[in-house]
Amino acid sequence: MKIIVLTINQYKEKDAIVTAVAENQLITFLARGIYNPKSKNSILNNPLTIVDIELVEGNFKYPILNSSKQLFTPLKVEMDSKYLGSLLLMNEMMMHLFPDEEKHRMFPFLEEGIIALRKTNDWLMTLLIFMSHAIRIGGFELEVNQCINCGKKKNIVAFSFVDGGFVCEDCYYEGMERVFTKEQMVLVRKIFNSRDYSLVSTQYSHGDAQRLFNKFLEFIQEAFGYRFKNIRLLVD
Ligand SMILES: [Zn+2]
Repeated sequence: MKIIVLTINQYKEKDAIVTAVAENQLITFLARGIYNPKSKNSILNNPLTIVDIELVEGNFKYPILNSSKQLFTPLKVEMDSKYLGSLLLMNEMMMHLFPDEEKHRMFPFLEEGIIALRKTNDWLMTLLIFMSHAIRIGGFELEVNQCINCGKKKNIVAFSFVDGGFVCEDCYYEGMERVFTKEQMVLVRKIFNSRDYSLVSTQYSHGDAQRLFNKFLEFIQEAFGYRFKNIRLLVD
């Protein structure tokens, strides 16, 4: 079974209870010898590692790790603060934004996201795409293809988180939330319509992307009712 490690909690001296997300479920198991560098299981002692595992049922509360093979590690020789901060934030979103029985729905976006991040180091676009999926899967989908009010596709003049997306000229009224510039709205649309990470490492305005990132952060915290603890490395 392919899993992505989320948390590792020490259990007795050298063992740990590992929580990981798989394609169809969230799974918790006992990994023996995880703190022993000579043990094959030590590869699991790092969040967001992708591992192929085999579990066996024993007389313990949780299934027990029988074998493990590393498929991907986010660890690399040079990890700057943005890279580390991005890993922390993705892990934090997985742990705190979704109920346990829903977390697996983020699996493909988490898997592709950590691979894209490592390959390109484009932390900003990787996180924007990951966050757009988190917003959608969390049930807060935003309309970015037409006016949220009348459905018109032309003369979109505003993006409003409060109203739920794009607003056209006719439906816009004075005092309505107007979060983004025209260029930023084009970028928001591209991000919310992307089903993979192909936007990562393309040409885009970093200033605009940074603005989107700050606004996405605010929106997620508000919508999900959760305050991030791991964004210090990412906001200047
Ligand atoms: Zn309208």
